[in-house]
Amino acid sequence: MSTATLTIDLGAITANWTALSALGRAEAGAVVKADAYGLGAARVGRALAKAGARTFFVAVAEEGVALREALGPGPVIYILSGHMAGDADMLSDMSLAPILNSLDQMIRHLESLPGHEFGLQLDTGMNRLGMEPSEWAAVRDIAVAQEPQLIISHLAAADVRDDDMNRRQLELFRQMTAGLECPLSIANTGGIMLDKAFHFDVTRPGIGLYGGMPYADARPAVALDIPVIQCRDVEVGEVVGYNSGWTAQRPSRIATLNAGYADGIFRAIGGKSAVWADDVRCPIVGRVSMDLIGIDITDAAADPKTVSLLGRHQGIDELADCAGTIAYEILTALGARYTRRYLGG
Ligand SMILES: *Cc1c(COP(=O)(O)O)cnc(C)c1O
Repeated sequence: MSTATLTIDLGAITANWTALSALGRAEAGAVVKADAYGLGAARVGRALAKAGARTFFVAVAEEGVALREALGPGPVIYILSGHMAGDADMLSDMSLAPILNSLDQMIRHLESLPGHEFGLQLDTGMNRLGMEPSEWAAVRDIAVAQEPQLIISHLAAADVRDDDMNRRQLELFRQMTAGLECPLSIANTGGIMLDKAFHFDVTRPGIGLYGGMPYADARPAVALDIPVIQCRDVEVGEVVGYNSGWTAQRPSRIATLNAGYADGIFRAIGGKSAVWADDVRCPIVGRVSMDLIGIDITDAAADPKTVSLLGRHQGIDELADCAGTIAYEILTALGARYTRRYLGG
């Protein structure tokens, strides 16, 4: 096999969902937007539905159509970007519930699909999506009379426990929804970890399902193993890769791996990160190329056949740190060339 193997542990994902649901009284939904953060929304969605998830969130209606095809009738599928022009047929044919973000979306929805399920999003300070307090005050009675299935808001800094923004958003969400009977939801993974006060009726974990921070107890959901194409010896002073990115300081053995930045392995990790040959750390040397990566295997017992970039030695958050980014970006960048292997589910 010449391509790298991405192993996706559906058992870990469902265990993370079950554990996050058990943290509070709320029903745990599941955020499977962006193809379940790159891990495959159909497989992940089916595994979660089997584990008991009844409420799913995706970003756009097209993702909702694909998810409905995978899940069949039953689970509620919310569309976070709301009801966009041209979406009405998809929403109605596939029973998708848009989360309406503005008065414009509300009018579009009520005109084109009267009586069709929907949710509402309120902006409590992130200024990304949702109705602002003044707009909400004007339409609240009309909107509530149409019986939304869920009212949500989104936290801008839930990953930072002591950021005052969390408390302010919670307070405003409470004010904006005071006296309403409708189910409420504000917590993403970070929000679930903050405090039960953020749980309300439905939670919306995403990254925690896939093994990422700030859910510190998450079971890792991905492993990435990359084949070695070729090994060679280099003398002191020889260089490796584009633009002589690395120079041997000792007689070294270099292996070339069959993956690169076209597979979502960011160029920024060159010289900063490592892979593992069994338990031996092998630093990435020189620049990450489009399809190839050089590593220093001098300390390995023998020439490895494959090495691990993501697995028990290095998780998505550690790799993200090396790349100067977040685990969300590591996952959603995972490339199309991998052989994908699913465990459990
Ligand atoms: C992506 C997203 C989530 C999930 O967030 P995580 O931090 O991955 O748990 C929840 N709610 C909304 C509105 C989102 O856009």
